Amino acid sequence: MVGVTLADDLRKTVGDKTAKVLKSKWDMATVGDLLRHYPRRYVRHGELTDLASLTEGEDVTVVGRVVDSRQRKITKRPFQLLEVTVEDATGRRISLTFFGTGVHKAAADLQSGVLAMIAGRVGLYRGKVQLTHPDYEVIPGRATAETVEEYAARPIPIYPATKDLPSWKIKKAVEYALGPGLDLADPMPASVLGRRGLVPLGAALEGIHRPKDDDELRAARKRLKWDEAFYVQLALALRREAAADLPATPRPDRADGLRAAFDAALPFTLTDGQVEVGAEISADLARAHPMHRLLQGDVGAGKTVVALRAMLQVVDNGGQAALLAPTEVLAQQHYRSILSLLGPLARAGQLDGVEGATRVALLTGSQGAKAKRAALLEAASGGAGIVVGTHALIQEHVQFADLGLIVVDEQHRFGVEQRDALREKVAGGRPHVLVMTATPIPRTVAMTVFGDLDTSVLAQLPAGRAAVATHVVPPEKPAFLARAWQRIREEAAEGRQAYIVCPRIGDDAGGRAGEEEDLPREEGEARPPLAVMELLPLLEGELLRGLRIDVLHGRMHPDDKDAAMRRFAAGETDVLLATTVVEVGVDVPNATVMMIMDADRFGVSQLHQLRGRVGRGGLPGLCLLVTDVPADAPARARLEAVASTSDGFELSRLDLEQRREGDILGAAQSGTRSTLRLLTLQYDEPVISNARKEASRLLAEDPGLAGHPEVRAALEEFLTEDRADYLDKA
Ligand code: ADP
Ligand code: MG
Repeated sequence: MVGVTLADDLRKTVGDKTAKVLKSKWDMATVGDLLRHYPRRYVRHGELTDLASLTEGEDVTVVGRVVDSRQRKITKRPFQLLEVTVEDATGRRISLTFFGTGVHKAAADLQSGVLAMIAGRVGLYRGKVQLTHPDYEVIPGRATAETVEEYAARPIPIYPATKDLPSWKIKKAVEYALGPGLDLADPMPASVLGRRGLVPLGAALEGIHRPKDDDELRAARKRLKWDEAFYVQLALALRREAAADLPATPRPDRADGLRAAFDAALPFTLTDGQVEVGAEISADLARAHPMHRLLQGDVGAGKTVVALRAMLQVVDNGGQAALLAPTEVLAQQHYRSILSLLGPLARAGQLDGVEGATRVALLTGSQGAKAKRAALLEAASGGAGIVVGTHALIQEHVQFADLGLIVVDEQHRFGVEQRDALREKVAGGRPHVLVMTATPIPRTVAMTVFGDLDTSVLAQLPAGRAAVATHVVPPEKPAFLARAWQRIREEAAEGRQAYIVCPRIGDDAGGRAGEEEDLPREEGEARPPLAVMELLPLLEGELLRGLRIDVLHGRMHPDDKDAAMRRFAAGETDVLLATTVVEVGVDVPNATVMMIMDADRFGVSQLHQLRGRVGRGGLPGLCLLVTDVPADAPARARLEAVASTSDGFELSRLDLEQRREGDILGAAQSGTRSTLRLLTLQYDEPVISNARKEASRLLAEDPGLAGHPEVRAALEEFLTEDRADYLDKA
């Protein structure tokens, strides 16, 4: 079938009806879409089933000779039925039935005397085992022991199928599209194929759908997996290239500015990591192209100070910096801590403000109109060198006099597109951008989701950070729970404070104004997860009677949230009973206990984040993971893992293993057509990092890909429609 290309309409190779099903079920439109519908698995010789041991519902593969084949018309039905009887080497028999469109071909293929390998699901019809519409391979000619071997070595593909479109039909359509040999130009440069030991695209498509043996299949998968990694990396490399060409105002370090004054007054010594990363960022800011940098640092690593020093460098050059926090609680906390870290350096125009001082403005959704107007004016006039706010707010209509730097805090779910949108909102010039995350990102995720950013890592925690002891409080040891309450009372008696976190707010009146959602109740679960509003009376009435307890959750009015946070930070409350609003960034050094109720409801990274709220002030921290799932439940293993290590990177790897890939890459992955079919972030780090190298190399040789139109076309095809979404939604 010469002349069919991947871009051709699907209907060139399949009938209208089949095309319709393929379209509605998998959103396929072209021959390429069909050929990228890879088999779900393959049945192999090693899995040949003994006819003596067939059980209903089982997927089996048998080799046998056709001993009988008869076609008949079913009474009162409009179609033909073909019944084929096959006998294996031991003389046992099984019957195969075909009907409808498959009858004609099967009748021709499976004539008496023919030897075939057959794969299908065992069904029971009138007490007789049979395979309905099995996949088969005819073993041609006078079969010798060798030809049987050879055919049995051939993996039979089994496709993701539906009731309307069984695997064998998809196989037929794919084979038709492949034809005797697909006429296909391979866009991948030959030099890349050579260096990476990859087979051509045509061979790879042939090999994944019609492999002669496992070697061919392996080579095919290797190549097709490469393509997935390569085009993603190429897209990201193009972004980096484009960004590197954009102009930005250089904001070099000045020895006599606010930043120098701030450093001189700092009450602690910067860690080596903070100094090093600070120098990287400082150099970026001095360049005439925008910085795009991701700063990773485990909870408590001291990212805020790093960001603040960068912001001051920009202010020293007459520019402004915006700090974007994911929640109001965090924005308010940043505002307060920046004011206190800067002291007189942030009091321009006030009596005790130093010469050359700046101002800090806070912008949140809950501000009164007057305060908001004042803050907007400070931003627009340039009076405020630093503007702190929530993401949403600053992304709306804030005008800056001269925005030079955007710092995005604690935002690991901030995709490429959101970052673009943010940069574009700055009229006339590109600000430098620093994205900070405390959720350690496995290298593979960093290279894909954040592949357009340069990366810095703050590996070490500031000195004097005390360890946090983590314990699982399990249902089989009720004494542990009693001891846990006692520990909180003891800490409170010492003047220390505790967080108690519940998965749910409870008290379902009221709207969902919060930053967190109540976790849905799972089907068949014994009880809903514990709620803040349910636990409160128990704490007050008995468990922690006499302690000062405050509540914090996302459905509270922002002023009340802020007030609760302030009281806790000031040591006016002993216990903060909260939802995950305290998950990121909250910094109260005097808090020593983090008790997490129904801890099995949370993911690994979330638990690690919550734990990071204690042990911040040089006081040893205690993290209690309360659960009532039994010891052998998978969730318990997760809790034990969190208890066993405080290494955030280790835990992020574990998290990646436990979550489905789609949860990380975003919604597009779980949709009908996923970009990454073969590539996994979990196991394919070498492929991803090699693809990154080759993509950069190609662009270094041919910036903009002007000399490689076929690669550009393939990239565009790869990234069409929803396929690029995972870059955005992660
Ligand atoms: P995170 O990286 O989790 O955002 P923060 O920036 O909130 O961490 O820092 C945690 C705490 O450590 C803050 O109270 C901060 O003032 C303090 N800190 C930061 N750097 C140092 C340092 N070099 N030495 C001592 N304390 C530090
Ligand atoms: Mg922080």
